[in-house]
Amino acid sequence: IITIILLIGTTKAGMIYEGGDPGDFDFYLFVEQWIYSFCDTQSCLPGKEREAFTIHGLWPNNNDGSYPSFCKGQPFDVDEIADIEPQLDTIWPSLTGPNPDFWAHEWSKHGTCSITGPLADLHDYFFATVHIYQTYNITGGLAQFNILPSDNATYSAPSVVDALSKQFGVTPLIQCTGNRLVTVAFCLTKDLKLMSCPALNGWSCSGNVILPAT
Ligand code: AMP
Repeated sequence: IITIILLIGTTKAGMIYEGGDPGDFDFYLFVEQWIYSFCDTQSCLPGKEREAFTIHGLWPNNNDGSYPSFCKGQPFDVDEIADIEPQLDTIWPSLTGPNPDFWAHEWSKHGTCSITGPLADLHDYFFATVHIYQTYNITGGLAQFNILPSDNATYSAPSVVDALSKQFGVTPLIQCTGNRLVTVAFCLTKDLKLMSCPALNGWSCSGNVILPAT
């Protein structure tokens, strides 16, 4: 009985757990979203449209698919990121409410658990995420392979993964809603080097997809 209780207690596969220790995870997922696909199923604010992937977040993750959330740490304070706020407004927008509310959520849920290695505090977390976004241009990388925003052009899901793999030298993960490509994620080591993503539950997309322009 004790073994069973211990096993249940330590089996985290596919699960989110709260209040872990910062830095206790295996790798990061850097997640970007396509506005027109995200907003097809969510009610978004007007005026947020742009033909580029934007940041959803930088998420600590484990090889078994589980991930820590809401770790103990610094409370969110927008003043700490005043120097990069104009950039964040453009590349890490909330699509449903005030931008700082979204950043506060991402910080509390994922950022607090991300503090390890080169990321020492809240400013580092946001700064590093902006840097990753700028270094690995997903929208541009897809365009190199003629995967362009359009309501009509379709691309096979594997060809999207293939294009990104060729462009960046590692395998990303993608998610679709219906036939819309909605999310692209790259994986990074804890010292923020690109690595190929492991297969993870919830990250799949098959058939033909579009990258909608509206
Ligand atoms: P997370 O909690 O980080 O896994 O993010 C998922 C939550 O964030 C869901 O409630 C989404 O609807 C919401 N969300 C994702 N992207 C955005 C965005 N760009 N703006 C506002 N909310 C978002």
